[in-house]
Amino acid sequence: MSEDTKRVVVVTGGSSGIGRAICIRMAEPSTKVYFNYFHSLGEKSQETVRLIEHAGGTGSGVRLDVASRPDVEKFFSKVVEECGRVDVLVNNAGITRDRLLVRMGEEDWDRVLAVNLKGAFNCIHAVARIMMKQRSGCIINIASVVAMTGNPGQANYTASKAGLIGLTRTAARELAPRGITVNAVAPGFIDTPMTGTLSEKVKKAMLDQIPLGRIGRPEDVAEVVAFLASGRASYITGQVIHVNGGMYM
Ligand code: NAP
Repeated sequence: MSEDTKRVVVVTGGSSGIGRAICIRMAEPSTKVYFNYFHSLGEKSQETVRLIEHAGGTGSGVRLDVASRPDVEKFFSKVVEECGRVDVLVNNAGITRDRLLVRMGEEDWDRVLAVNLKGAFNCIHAVARIMMKQRSGCIINIASVVAMTGNPGQANYTASKAGLIGLTRTAARELAPRGITVNAVAPGFIDTPMTGTLSEKVKKAMLDQIPLGRIGRPEDVAEVVAFLASGRASYITGQVIHVNGGMYM
């Protein structure tokens, strides 16, 4: 299949965890998966490319900070130059900098909002015109259960994820007339490097809140993203789909 007839999928933060699982789940011979990463070394990105290829797709990892609008714009220009289109954008890149709010420095607030919320806005802003011209496209934002419940120590993170849900609904309303869907997926407690640093005591406390009795896998989230990105979900927009084993109902 030639490059210019492939379905083009862009996933932010594809070097580990949920983003990597999404890249692998979306990989097919008819799909080209672009993803990015920022803090890690190239090896993790190369491993994602290898796993995409193993799943039968084509992958390309680019190092960039989603919080930088010029870098994001440059990246999407390159994708369009190479493929002529973008069919799916998954805003998955995210960070935490946890601290009780009375101790939270301005820098911790600003950086988490810049990556988790402005980063998603930057990508939607860059891709919207491309998808509007195509009169088709699908945008999926990875939010979090804590946007709904709040979580001590995560004022910055919960605000960024709640903001992402507002952004999802506005973008859904603005872009629907051009045939573009915009949804959010809100994972609960998923086993990734982000949660890997939590103490056993915290993990046990989280597990106790999950009716299905297990921590989620990145693949549990990737499956729902793949559905939302498919034609089977073409009448769903502006929604938040919860993937949390029942910990929030
Ligand atoms: P993760 O394993 O830490 O992966 C985060 C990804 O984002 C990595 O690929 C990372 O790449 C990338 N990234 C971070 N900052 C970036 C930046 N400035 N520019 C570009 N890429 C950047 O975390 P995860 O658990 O898979 O989380 C993925 C998403 O799910 C996040 O939005 C997170 O908030 C959300 N989520 C996770 C959970 C959970 O329980 N794990 C629950 C709810 C929601 P580098 O390391 O190279 O920077």
